Amino acid sequence: MKYAVDLHIHSAASPCADKDMTPNNIVNMALVKGLDAIAVTDHNTGANLKAVALCAKKAGLVFIPGIEVETSEEVHVVCLLPDLDRALELHTIVQNALPDIMNRTDIFGSQLIIDENDMTIGQEQRMLLTATNLSIDDISAVVRRLGGAVIPAHVDRTSYSIISNLGFIPQELGFRYLEISRSCDKYGYRASHPELDRYRLIQSSDAHYLGDILERCSMLELEGLNADAIVTYLA
Ligand SMILES: [Zn+2]
Ligand SMILES: [Zn+2]
Repeated sequence: MKYAVDLHIHSAASPCADKDMTPNNIVNMALVKGLDAIAVTDHNTGANLKAVALCAKKAGLVFIPGIEVETSEEVHVVCLLPDLDRALELHTIVQNALPDIMNRTDIFGSQLIIDENDMTIGQEQRMLLTATNLSIDDISAVVRRLGGAVIPAHVDRTSYSIISNLGFIPQELGFRYLEISRSCDKYGYRASHPELDRYRLIQSSDAHYLGDILERCSMLELEGLNADAIVTYLA
């Protein structure tokens, strides 16, 4: 059966995301848009994943916990985990790989930690919009060990993508899926990039605002609708 997904959404923990990207707002907007499953993937943190997981469970929406990690090569990769425990394990690993640079909220924006009632309970103190010291090889190995899937993010963009920064996709990393942006013409991109024929493409919103969350346009053909099945399918 085909299910509608959006597997790259930012919460207010990402400094560039709108403050309205709270756990309940994200889940409710996903339901309004008619989605079957979503993933929240903040920059280098899983601080809001537990709250979103609780809201999604209450609302009956399938939720995949994730993190958009910036590798040491300044490549963004969407890391999706089959459950919250493993996502929080990845969160700890990524946090330990962040440089000790404090966030400047006046310049970069706030990095809000929010509970399941949409109450702000703290802030990520260190700057999240920066490269970790994990290489793309490192992060791929870590996420696979945790049973997750790694998807190179927004490969059609000219910055922070694996193609823009490395110039190619190392085959030994074993990616199956590449993410293209919300605004990218999937068929046009496919036609103009025959060198990427071996990869499947998935379109995600990379939403930083509620209105940018996808409608029913990014479909996955799945046997069952749960986080484990989706992550296994993408890995
Ligand atoms: Zn990104
Ligand atoms: Zn993103």
